[in-house]
Amino acid sequence: MPVHLEPLDVSADLENFHSVLIVSCPVCPPMYLAMQQNSPFIEFFKRGLKAGAFEDYIQSIRKPLEQRGVRTGAYSIHTPTPMMCVWTEWQRSRLLKRARDYEAVLVLGCDSATYTAQDVLKKADCQVIKGMQMIGTTNATLKVRFPLTIELDMNCVLKNDSARKHNTILG
Ligand code: SF4
Repeated sequence: MPVHLEPLDVSADLENFHSVLIVSCPVCPPMYLAMQQNSPFIEFFKRGLKAGAFEDYIQSIRKPLEQRGVRTGAYSIHTPTPMMCVWTEWQRSRLLKRARDYEAVLVLGCDSATYTAQDVLKKADCQVIKGMQMIGTTNATLKVRFPLTIELDMNCVLKNDSARKHNTILG
């Protein structure tokens, strides 16, 4: 059940920081961008577990920051679970360790992913900024192509406030 997310314009929120760590949930956000850009979610032999459209999006955030002298980093972790909403204590402690070197953490994920980062970093001197907004829940058809390429055809988005009424946005 991927959450349907859309990027927020956070350029003004990041204006005053000298270092930003981009923390991403590697499940719903790359699914959304792959569907939106009609590109594969996984091309294992080309990019491993990284989704091309999502990696490009992360770079599009980093590049302008770095051009004005901001130090950036990107952080994501797949094991034991990629889902930020259910990260283990070990994954949370890894984020805390990594984020200590940065003034701000930009979260690419749903509200629950942002909550994970806020909870982990509540005692750290690091501001957490939400980088995506939840629109609803996506329904998609998963397709597997040779060799180990996974695509998602979006069927519809069930909006948060109207899912029970089956009010949809067609993909
Ligand atoms: S944290 Fe949010 S974006 Fe990530 S898998 Fe869980 S529901 Fe999806």
